[in-house]
Amino acid sequence: MSGSSIVYFYHSRKYPILILNNYEYKIETRKADKSFWCCKAKDRYRCKARLLSWGKTLSVKTSANHNHPPDFNGSFEKCTPQLLNVEYLETFPKYRDTSHLN
Ligand SMILES: [Zn+2]
Repeated sequence: MSGSSIVYFYHSRKYPILILNNYEYKIETRKADKSFWCCKAKDRYRCKARLLSWGKTLSVKTSANHNHPPDFNGSFEKCTPQLLNVEYLETFPKYRDTSHLN
């Protein structure tokens, strides 16, 4: 259950935004070359959806789905598309345990 997907990025005033399937994510934590993304609507909906990206790979946490409809209804014009290899993980490794992913 993995494959390539077009993911969009843009830079808001404060932080980079990643768009996948019309959901927006913002950076939650950066650790070395890995970025942990949380749903942009995390606070509004207590949404637990998370992504982990490093290099050309984007991991989707399958145990935490969005609890609200897609929130991106803007234009893709200012977004930068990027082709990433998307994989699905039940859980993410702890921050300190990510070295084996390299
Ligand atoms: Zn969400």
